[in-house]
Amino acid sequence: MGVMEKIIDSITMYVDVYFFKIAGLFFFFLIFSSMALLLPGKKDRERSKKNKGAEDKEEDKPSLSYFTRVHDINGVFYKDFKLELGYYLFNLFLTSLLVGGIVYVLTSYILPEIIPHQYFAGTVQNFPFWLQIFCGLIIADLSLFVPHWFAHHVFWRFHTIHHSAKEIHWLTGLRLHPVDTMVFTIGGVLVSYTIGFEGEAIVLATFVMTMYNFFVHANINLGYPKPLCYILVSPNYHRWHHARDKRAIDKNIATMFPVFDLIMGSYFYPHDEMPKEYGFFEPDKKAKIPEKFEQQLIYPWIYARARKENDKKKKLKKKEKGQEDGKNVR
Ligand SMILES: [Zn+2]
Ligand SMILES: [Zn+2]
Repeated sequence: MGVMEKIIDSITMYVDVYFFKIAGLFFFFLIFSSMALLLPGKKDRERSKKNKGAEDKEEDKPSLSYFTRVHDINGVFYKDFKLELGYYLFNLFLTSLLVGGIVYVLTSYILPEIIPHQYFAGTVQNFPFWLQIFCGLIIADLSLFVPHWFAHHVFWRFHTIHHSAKEIHWLTGLRLHPVDTMVFTIGGVLVSYTIGFEGEAIVLATFVMTMYNFFVHANINLGYPKPLCYILVSPNYHRWHHARDKRAIDKNIATMFPVFDLIMGSYFYPHDEMPKEYGFFEPDKKAKIPEKFEQQLIYPWIYARARKENDKKKKLKKKEKGQEDGKNVR
């Protein structure tokens, strides 16, 4: 094949990929927006209560009534819809090109040298198809869990963007800083390459996973009772991941199977409660999360600096306190 043909070939492939990604997004838009719209909202709940003549003084408390909307919005375009769609398009057209290059070099030149034997290569393909899909789902979830764990414990400054959402809607799953996107993609490739599993089943499993990721972020009040809550992640389980609540920091990292959280000790799911607010704890007033996309792109560095200064202040205070305590002893 000539060079020109090769170039045309790869361009066609890219166009195909983009077409599917955009068409897929439109498909998910239809599903999740209509799903949330069809559910009754807070106003409908109030109206039905009034009709029944019941008075509820605890209306301020986030409600636990399942199969309702959590955030009341008019129509499908919620407040941060444009921003979150912007993140998706930015990552699709710019970040993925860069990451695609890195992943190509990694999987064709570097990884085969380091990992000569892929653990499940060939083995899984001999399983019945349903079992292949199940294994595919576990591998796909693990490929998300590992980088997500690192995003919380090492690259948190970039992952703050995902957690900056004050309301959680289906597209919030794609609200990722470009560096965070790289962490997720490269981390995911490292995990799935090491395990080594190819074929239709993993493609289908990845599709189901993408859909499930939209579902757990959707504007739906839905939790699973015991013991199902230990087996599958529910939208409310992931809502706690986004809660601005001291008890929920770095909890519920799994997207589909809570077993990973149970193993890592990051499982947190109170059945009789809903998060009061969403977001994360900013280090100080100067490091409040901005609303605009371009300001959010540089936010991780502002966050890191504020956090550093904060830590310094804390250390100094501790030192002073220690000295005072020392004096008192003497
Ligand atoms: Zn999330
Ligand atoms: Zn997270």
